[in-house]
Amino acid sequence: MAADLQNNDSPFRRHSQGDPEWIPQKDLRSPSRGIGLLGGTFNPIHNGHLYIAKAVQRHFDLDRVLFIPSADPPHKQGSNLPDARHRATMVRLAIADDPEFALCDIELARPGRSYSVETVEALRQTFSDPLFFIIGMDAFREIATWRDPERLLTLCHFVVVSRAGFPFNEVASIPLFADLDHAPLKEMDAGTRVSYSAAVAPGMAIHFLSLPPMPVSASNIRDNLSTSRACLPAAVASYILRHGLYA
Ligand code: ATP
Repeated sequence: MAADLQNNDSPFRRHSQGDPEWIPQKDLRSPSRGIGLLGGTFNPIHNGHLYIAKAVQRHFDLDRVLFIPSADPPHKQGSNLPDARHRATMVRLAIADDPEFALCDIELARPGRSYSVETVEALRQTFSDPLFFIIGMDAFREIATWRDPERLLTLCHFVVVSRAGFPFNEVASIPLFADLDHAPLKEMDAGTRVSYSAAVAPGMAIHFLSLPPMPVSASNIRDNLSTSRACLPAAVASYILRHGLYA
């Protein structure tokens, strides 16, 4: 069992007027080029997460990327999750040096299962900026099993990035995307094309983006902690050891 969180490990900081820090201060709040949303279990956060967040942020010139730890992920039930605050604190440590990254605690503050459609609906109340939901192909291929995927696709853009072992053209077998032109996805899998954007709802698109793969996963890190330190930000590796996580 992981050690309890210590008070000085609290993952959240607040602006003086009370807003969480992932909401820019009111006078700075004007519509931007866009905000990336990277949801995940972050069990633990690793260099693969940081890599896709930075690559997408640069590709779309996004103002910032919000890292959104899932409190109670519907798709990772029974996977022996450490307390959400441990996972959130590791996110905070991992992104501390990057002013374009922020930790967003919206799912931790909400009771019950963490459904992305509810999260994005809530963020749309806060931001007028275009929202880009960043996701690896391994997770995107499951989207039809998520809560209300049709609605989710109308609320934000999606940016689907490569994940080793998960070809983009798997999308062709998802009935939700039957109308999509699949030929560009095959070209991406063949390495002859790097991106493809498909309109899916009024004003919203799915952007497929081929990135050089970074074959790292949280499950592999949990299973081989002693040999996986190089896949973790140093502060996260220290935190895991200090709190006896994944021992
Ligand atoms: P696990 O191995 O426990 O399933 P994970 O490494 O996939 O975990 P998550 O927190 O579940 O980590 O992932 C959050 C998001 O980041 C998902 O959309 C996932 O596809 C994406 N992601 C994680 N690692 C990578 C990677 N190495 N390359 C591309 N996408 C990644």
